[in-house]
Amino acid sequence: MALDIYLFPCLSDNYGVLVHDPVSGRTASIDAPEASAVLGALKEKGWTLSDIFTTHHHVDHVQGNLEVKAATGATITGPADEADKIPGIDKTVRDGDVIDFAGHPVKIIATPGHTLGHIVYYFENDAVAFVADTLFALGCGRVFEGTLDQMYESVSKVGALPAETQLYVGHEYTESNLRFCLTVDPTNEALIARGGEIKALRAAGKPTIPTNVAIERATNPYLRADTPELRASMNLPNGTPAEVFAAIRLAKDVFK
Ligand SMILES: [Zn+2]
Repeated sequence: MALDIYLFPCLSDNYGVLVHDPVSGRTASIDAPEASAVLGALKEKGWTLSDIFTTHHHVDHVQGNLEVKAATGATITGPADEADKIPGIDKTVRDGDVIDFAGHPVKIIATPGHTLGHIVYYFENDAVAFVADTLFALGCGRVFEGTLDQMYESVSKVGALPAETQLYVGHEYTESNLRFCLTVDPTNEALIARGGEIKALRAAGKPTIPTNVAIERATNPYLRADTPELRASMNLPNGTPAEVFAAIRLAKDVFK
């Protein structure tokens, strides 16, 4: 049976997400950016939390861990590679592990770059992935701990998931990402069309999330680093996709 997924904004621009299996009642929170928001969402839905699935150690993803765990008794799962930085962690996972969520297999995909231990939770049979700060709608995470090459590989792993895979990302950055994308990929008709949809959603106060792999492949410049258009616009006519990716990411870092 299909999962119920509930997305809610918290902090200034983070997203919280609850994943609920209606058969067993099992419910996971993807990260715990803000305890009051997570607990409020659970109350609103009438769901009982069983798990917190941590994607990476940044404070805006884990600061609710202890309070939510104390209130619900949830088990906290997170990346082995940065377990020492994740408050209250109970279980660690690594790349390639498959954990069970009420009969739904969840594949762990390591996506180092934003942080060295960052992981993605991919619910393979449900065609949904929780990618946090690896890939954003029209963007990708800043490279704080890893290398640009590592980030390119990580972003490409998400881009290689099946086209229909729904992507839940960690932040609502889409509208500001759009401004940058239009400067590096100005003739992309799919991007221009998506821009109109994004503006309409935000003007109505609605999230631009979830996105999906097909939409990102068509419009996200970090997944288009292997195209002639992006090579040309980054002035790297003979650049490898990893070099073009790095140039796009570095240009975004200083974009105003
Ligand atoms: Zn982060």
